[in-house]
Amino acid sequence: MNPFVYQRADSVADAIRQRALNPGSRFLGGGTNLIDLMKYGVERPEVLIDVTRLPLTRIEPIAGGGLRIGALVRNSDIAADRAVVSSYPVLAEAILNGASPQLRNMATTGGNLMQRTRCYYFYDTAFPCNKREPGTGCSAIGGQNRIHAVLGQSDACIAVNPSDMSVALSALDAVVQVEGPRGRRVIPIVDFHRLPGDSPQIDTNLQRDELITAVDLPASSLAARSHYIKVRDRASYAFALVSAAVALDAPGGTVRAARIALGGVAHKPWRATNAERFLSGRPANESSFRRAAELALDGARGYEHNTFKIELAKRTIVRALVELNERRT
Ligand code: SF4
Repeated sequence: MNPFVYQRADSVADAIRQRALNPGSRFLGGGTNLIDLMKYGVERPEVLIDVTRLPLTRIEPIAGGGLRIGALVRNSDIAADRAVVSSYPVLAEAILNGASPQLRNMATTGGNLMQRTRCYYFYDTAFPCNKREPGTGCSAIGGQNRIHAVLGQSDACIAVNPSDMSVALSALDAVVQVEGPRGRRVIPIVDFHRLPGDSPQIDTNLQRDELITAVDLPASSLAARSHYIKVRDRASYAFALVSAAVALDAPGGTVRAARIALGGVAHKPWRATNAERFLSGRPANESSFRRAAELALDGARGYEHNTFKIELAKRTIVRALVELNERRT
């Protein structure tokens, strides 16, 4: 690990000011990913700005309905929050499917959004990796690619986003609140993470000098009827091979509205809006869900070891929708 300077921020403005003064700095929240990356020599910040004392630790109602989750709310606290559990169950389920209890106790909302891929080659500095070192090549394309992307990938990178929380937030149409030297702005969650294109080193559309301050969950009756399924190699403490966050409003057995987002398949949470549109007005049954799942994976392309993910993702969508639909009837 490289030597670094540790500093604390005592306000959001102070954090932003410190960041602007130190281009080689990183914000430190729970540190559950950043510190690992530093130990591996993947991240080498000159300065760590500890933001954990900032007043961004509350979950509170917002005007017009909905909830605001502070950027420093620990993952465990979101999953245990009564309003989240009753009004946004997919979010609580997704978080409880991630990491371990110890990690969830440390990990923050903002940090979860910023966590980096778990591609093996990204962490191993002996291998070329365009995300770690642009222009060096992608070791996964011709190497071990069982955990890699089947949607939205590029010739430069086929990594996947590892977050469970972000998949649920995508299905919920969450909005990320950020603040920086140019003021405040909001980024819809679907625009927060990027596809790799020819610049896979850039994971998100957050600017380097901006700080995430909160995530807003809009009011939604649909969100209360939501569900998360994660398929992984072992029952706990493993990243998703495939996951699905779904929501369904189907009064009288006909779909009025649906939300489908996938994890483990792309460089960002993959929102399947074409499948959602297809379901609108269709019977809420397994046949419709299967056709929607086919649409959701339209254009998917596998590599030597991960083609199984395409069918697995379809089955995961169907299972999540069937379980949710049965729960309601
Ligand atoms: Fe690096 Fe992306 Fe290729 Fe993995 S998939 S080796 S992160 S460029």
